Amino acid sequence: MRSIDKLKDIALAGRLAKNILNFSSKEIKIFAAGEGLAYSIIKNKLGEMLNPSVSFLFGPGCPACVTSVEAIDKAICIASMKDIIFILQEEYLNIPGSKQSLSGLREKSNSIRIIESPLEAVTIAGREPDKRIVFLAAGFEDAAAENLYALSLAKKKDLKNFFMLNSHLKFGAFLTGILPQNNYLVNGILLSGRIFSVTGYNEYKDLPGRLKIPVVITGCEPLDILQSVYLIAKQIKEGRCETENQFTRGAPAGGNKAALNLISDYFEAANKNWRSFGNIENGGYKFKKEFYRYDAEKNFPIKYTMPEESVFCEAKKVLKGQIVPYKCSAYSKLCSPPHALGAPMAAKDGICSLFFKLKRNN
Ligand code: SF4
Repeated sequence: MRSIDKLKDIALAGRLAKNILNFSSKEIKIFAAGEGLAYSIIKNKLGEMLNPSVSFLFGPGCPACVTSVEAIDKAICIASMKDIIFILQEEYLNIPGSKQSLSGLREKSNSIRIIESPLEAVTIAGREPDKRIVFLAAGFEDAAAENLYALSLAKKKDLKNFFMLNSHLKFGAFLTGILPQNNYLVNGILLSGRIFSVTGYNEYKDLPGRLKIPVVITGCEPLDILQSVYLIAKQIKEGRCETENQFTRGAPAGGNKAALNLISDYFEAANKNWRSFGNIENGGYKFKKEFYRYDAEKNFPIKYTMPEESVFCEAKKVLKGQIVPYKCSAYSKLCSPPHALGAPMAAKDGICSLFFKLKRNN
């Protein structure tokens, strides 16, 4: 058995969960955020294993959940122009703009293409020199590094028809700008280690002290998560509030230097709109001036008015962990994956869509 498979051993997970229940004398509410974490907790029924001592609330599971209506509206505006091939990854296809999603536009236009890797966007730009290629480059730092690597190849090939609609967000802004606004009580925070494999976590070492809540960076396999829950329970028992890293196999404290260098070469910090949360100071990235030539916003006449989000969507409360998705009054009635009102239901790994698909209705 490979060591990664051992981390998926559900029988062992059940035994570990019993040990945690015996160890922990008080009720623990854990806020879990980041890619892959909610999926693993819900799919592997870890909440049920740890019931009644430990319960989970969930923050953003994927960047598509917090990609702004503004970004989608701008994408739709550019994708509707002549002689454009507009390129995006599938996770952004159904995310609602103010009037429609890119999937709605795709039904009427053959200018929209879905890719799996940003490198395909560079290949298409090389193959179609008469078209302008615009790539919706979105996500947190892990996506930014991949997307900028593709851009660096386009630059090397001197492709004059390659542009990025940059909608990259800084994951740390959620930790430092949004999380501290919470006025609910949780006893611990679990953060998916995937993003920290790029950013590292040196910057966030003082976060638990500021929030007065233990923080554990975790892998997303069932045994990773249970070990991390145990680390939170131990911190609580010992009266500590620290950042601990369970995901040592993937997230070094200093992050990935090559990826971080790529980001700092092309981008600088900028205020950005986060869906449901509004404008966040230094919440994302913009191109440095010397790279404006690749910036779709600087090279295309985008008509745009600040959009409204659906009044029925309670994603702000859901993504802060204040309510679980099925407590939103629209859940499954007005809002479901084929007819999503908000991004957490439209995105494949969005928390509302995970609850819906994995049938957690109560
Ligand atoms: S269920 Fe739909 S409407 Fe409610 S918070 Fe989730 S995405 Fe928004």
